[in-house]
Amino acid sequence: FDQLDGDIWMNGAFVPWADAKIHVLTHGLHYASSVFEGERAYGGRIFKLTEHSERLVESARILGFEIPYTVAEIDDACNKTLVRQGFTDAYVRPVAWRGSEMMGVSAQKNRINLAIAVWEWPSYFDPAEKLKGIRLDMAEYRRPDPATAPSKSKAAGLYMICTISKHAAEAKGYADALMLDWRGRVAEATGANVFFVKDGELHTPVPDCFLDGITRRTVIDLAKRRGLTVNERVIMPEEMAGFEQCFLTGTAAEVTPVSEIGPYSFAVGEIARTLMADYEAEVMPATAVAAE
Ligand code: PMP
Repeated sequence: FDQLDGDIWMNGAFVPWADAKIHVLTHGLHYASSVFEGERAYGGRIFKLTEHSERLVESARILGFEIPYTVAEIDDACNKTLVRQGFTDAYVRPVAWRGSEMMGVSAQKNRINLAIAVWEWPSYFDPAEKLKGIRLDMAEYRRPDPATAPSKSKAAGLYMICTISKHAAEAKGYADALMLDWRGRVAEATGANVFFVKDGELHTPVPDCFLDGITRRTVIDLAKRRGLTVNERVIMPEEMAGFEQCFLTGTAAEVTPVSEIGPYSFAVGEIARTLMADYEAEVMPATAVAAE
């Protein structure tokens, strides 16, 4: 990590970036008892901060642990870390995990830790590439059945198959990978939700075994405001042959057009571009827009 400046908020206090360390026998490291958030600040405001803090608390509860801070306290700590780092446009990463007091699958008494780091992260995908549309491989791994994994939690453990899939895609020159779910239906990318366009309507998979992203819900609202029909439904991979446009949504990815998924290709069309612009406008606080 090349950013060594500033401080990280750790269990209620600011710690210099290089000193924000954990013990090697941390339960979160060995047994993936860790949950996190990804947030973006625009013009000094963290977009949908409270929704992210609520999801963090809920992600931990799903994994059986209680973060020792309220949603309001987490919001406040995120804002303070942003201000302390001196950024108006930045990425915010809260992470909560079981500590190192006891080693073993059971760690009932381990301290629950919370840290918040803020750094500059301009665009997830190269901006010029973004308008050309990014290329996705088909992932080897599938999103697990909710009866097999806590799929509603933004749990670190669920990202193991995402990193494997994304690395494999990158090794073949792709930007990312599209994951199917355990039934073979279209699910999402490794860190973003997916939308398709056909005959002027949007189609997106039902989020029943992957995150119903905050960006996904925002983009659905923006599309409806434009009078577009949004079909949340089962999407089989073969259907991609008939879709005209495709884009990903996520806090980091924002709205990113997709030009290719495996054998299927898509245009970077009007609807994808419009929603990209609508999202950019939506995330900006009104005062920052007025100041421009
Ligand atoms: N799916 C996965 C696997 C993700 O990591 C993310 C990013 N948090 C999303 C979807 C999109 O979620 P959001 O729009 O809330 O960032």
